[in-house]
Amino acid sequence: MERKVALVTGGTKGIGLACAIELAKAGCDVIINGRSEEAKVQDALNEIKAQGVNAYYYRFDVSDFKAAEENVAKMIEQCGKIDVLVNNAGITQDGLFVRMTPEQWSNVINVNLNSVFNVSHHVTKYMMKARTGSIVNVSSIVGVYGNAGQANYSAAKAGIIGLTKTLSKEFGSRNIRVNAVAPGFIKTQMTAGLDAEKITPFISLKRLGEVTDVAKTVKFLALDADYVTGQVIEIDGGLSI
Ligand code: NAP
Repeated sequence: MERKVALVTGGTKGIGLACAIELAKAGCDVIINGRSEEAKVQDALNEIKAQGVNAYYYRFDVSDFKAAEENVAKMIEQCGKIDVLVNNAGITQDGLFVRMTPEQWSNVINVNLNSVFNVSHHVTKYMMKARTGSIVNVSSIVGVYGNAGQANYSAAKAGIIGLTKTLSKEFGSRNIRVNAVAPGFIKTQMTAGLDAEKITPFISLKRLGEVTDVAKTVKFLALDADYVTGQVIEIDGGLSI
């Protein structure tokens, strides 16, 4: 059977790389994206290829609409299609709102939220023609509940949830499903500065999340959840209940 093709933005490390590996395990060829130099992502590509599929790296900044357009066109030329899109690339630039600079605000909105518009805008053109597709957007529990010190990030992640629900309605008739995950505290470079001992008492499962905890749910939404669209699944070990 012809393999599906999955694109994971921000797939060079962390949650994105784990999603790429999980999708590869399920038999997808995988395209990862990031801004790292080619040489630095060879291990990541090899880990994906070790699952017996093809792996490709496209280096571009997802906050750049034109770069997204050019790179998606090249991906289609190389792979013929994109069946699954995981909008995962993200950054934080935290600070209390009163001290937040316009630059901190727009950097985080551009990379976390505008990127979802930029990449999805081009990928859905191909998905619409194919009359099939699945998009999983990586939001955050702070997009649902807010978090002091993360006005820019929580606004971007809340924006992703609104966009997910709207796109699920616009694209449903074309058999394109759009869902989101909202992870809690997951062990990656992004959360390396956090004091786990202070946080874990508030988590029902009494541990931080692993990247695979998120990746398994992303894979479920992307490939298995045929009648699920417009949903946001919180992956936080029970932190938010
Ligand atoms: P991470 O380890 O810092 O990885 C971030 C990824 O995003 C990297 O692959 C990075 O690629 C890529 N990236 C950043 N800016 C980019 C840009 N402008 N263009 C293209 N790629 C870019 O972070 P993570 O913890 O895995 O986070 C992944 C996603 O999960 C993010 O959206 C984050 O907000 C979300 N999330 C994380 C947590 C958590 O606890 N870790 C919780 C909730 C939500 P390069 O380094 O190659 O540029």
